[in-house]
Amino acid sequence: MGVAIVKLEAASGRGPVAGRGSASLLAGVGQGGAKSPAPDSEQVAVPGTALAAHACTAFAPLGPDRGQTVYVDPGHGGPDPGAGANSVQEETATLAVGQELAKRLRADGYRVVLSRVGDSSVAALPASAIGDSGITITGVHLENQARMACANAAAADVLVAIHFNAFEDPSVGGAETIYDDVRPFADRNLKLAKLVQASVVASFSAKGWQVPDRGVQTDAAAGTPALSGAGQAYGRLMELGPAQQGFVDHPSQMPGVVVEPLFLTRPAEAAVAADPTGQAAMAEGLRQGIEKFLSGA
Ligand SMILES: [Zn+2]
Repeated sequence: MGVAIVKLEAASGRGPVAGRGSASLLAGVGQGGAKSPAPDSEQVAVPGTALAAHACTAFAPLGPDRGQTVYVDPGHGGPDPGAGANSVQEETATLAVGQELAKRLRADGYRVVLSRVGDSSVAALPASAIGDSGITITGVHLENQARMACANAAAADVLVAIHFNAFEDPSVGGAETIYDDVRPFADRNLKLAKLVQASVVASFSAKGWQVPDRGVQTDAAAGTPALSGAGQAYGRLMELGPAQQGFVDHPSQMPGVVVEPLFLTRPAEAAVAADPTGQAAMAEGLRQGIEKFLSGA
């Protein structure tokens, strides 16, 4: 959840992780980092939300159409690099996994909506959203709103946001999946979280990689985005959590999870996060979990 995840980690007793320098952050802004979408794609109209170029792009199914839409949200991007450690930047790895996941889901007949397809924000961020050290609290809020609005406008059946973890102790690692337990569809959230978590862990195991299974946890237990008083009071992840007037006016309307398959601060896991083979393994694990969920298995 943008900088919020860093605070989330801090709230769980984890230390903040330095992003990249502000100079490189600002250099990336407004330089058209987003790739051109494929011809069989279209930008989703999101009423009331100003989107960055190529943000919220829908990709048609390539296999027999299952009539279902998966919203894939690679965390961070643009002025918000996310966590960075061991020469791996969170925004880059989440995008690679998200795009690989989208490719696989489309081949299986799903419509896929990607929140972003390049190194960019999802919202069209005003100057006030970008500070000397990257995205501001205002920017994080706008990003979360835009990512939820995209999922809702896309009428997605399921929401999967991809992030990576970080912690001050480099020996700490593992995969975890976060869900919300107070939404009307909380039981579906939990089911999705368990399926995705199990599939991702199995995918790592099949490769012989030792990634601890940290299990599923609620977005309240995971810690709170404590960047602002309002975020602290809300106490959940905006993208998954319930409505709260003035803070989350339009919550996501479908079962969803935030997956954090690896810790970038653990060198062995950072290597997996940066490697195409590792990214493919994560995408395959996510695909299997999502498909089990959507097929009612
Ligand atoms: Zn993150």
